[in-house]
Amino acid sequence: MDRNLMVRFWGVRGSHPAPGAGTIHYGGNTSCVEVRAGERTIVLDAGTGIIPLGRELMRRAAGGKSPLEVMLLFSHLHHDHTQGFPFFVPAYLPGARLHIFGPGGTPETVNHVLEHNQSPETFPVSLRDMPSAKDIHSVRDTQVILWDEGGVRVVSSAEPVAEEALAIRIHRSHAHPGGVHVYRIGWLGRSVVYATDTEGYVGIDRRLAAFARDADVLIHDAQYSAAHYRGELAGFPSTQGYGHSTAAMAGELAAAAEVGELILFHHDPAYADEQVSVQEDAAKEIFPEVRAGFEGLELSLLPLERAAVASYGAREA
Ligand SMILES: [Zn+2]
Ligand SMILES: [Zn+2]
Repeated sequence: MDRNLMVRFWGVRGSHPAPGAGTIHYGGNTSCVEVRAGERTIVLDAGTGIIPLGRELMRRAAGGKSPLEVMLLFSHLHHDHTQGFPFFVPAYLPGARLHIFGPGGTPETVNHVLEHNQSPETFPVSLRDMPSAKDIHSVRDTQVILWDEGGVRVVSSAEPVAEEALAIRIHRSHAHPGGVHVYRIGWLGRSVVYATDTEGYVGIDRRLAAFARDADVLIHDAQYSAAHYRGELAGFPSTQGYGHSTAAMAGELAAAAEVGELILFHHDPAYADEQVSVQEDAAKEIFPEVRAGFEGLELSLLPLERAAVASYGAREA
């Protein structure tokens, strides 16, 4: 079995898609990241990046023996994180199984929002008429999602988690309008934190830094340049309070959390490639191990040795 934890970026843009000659390098699709743990596939958000990912999953499933099974985690339900779902081809495959989780006031919130997005006035196919089997649940930060030999299940975060289990922990951030879930995906001692749509605090978001501590990869919102954030970019208002970070804020959080690598994410749709590279330079002054995420970027994390996994587990507790 493949024991590497793989991360692949399919959409790195915030707010709305940004196709065109100026965004060829980083890409114009909205938020979607694929995390693969052996045979298991977890998809973070369903921006338009999920559309090419869906086609790729169909190709892989055509060559395999087992039916397609995918977990989809929504950071929140803003349009740029859900807009690709109606075009996610595996959802139309009768044999496919989708485990869908996201935030919500009631266990049915995610289901209701997805149903609403595909009401007859807005889309020709309703959620119910997509033939795949779908388990859709809202989850809270007091819960952990597990995916092991027993399948997918949600347990209390107080429960001990087996070393081998693929576990997803949740941090609830209030640094975005309506709030957002930050996920920490852990497997075989490796971990990836997905913190999009979150605004940095003065002196950093300490709860988030604690949640992301020692992660191998931190994917963090870095929508704006400092000048843009402050309202000093010609033609753009100040974006303070919009719920997004500057590249420097992402760098500060990565440094405080002592992560292995920082990937800047949710690039402003008005930024051409050169402006996104400048964002990378700005973050690098604070945290050297940084790259601006681009479509097609793939990271591969080897499993940690057993002893290291045990000490990691102890530090987590
Ligand atoms: Zn967004
Ligand atoms: Zn949002």
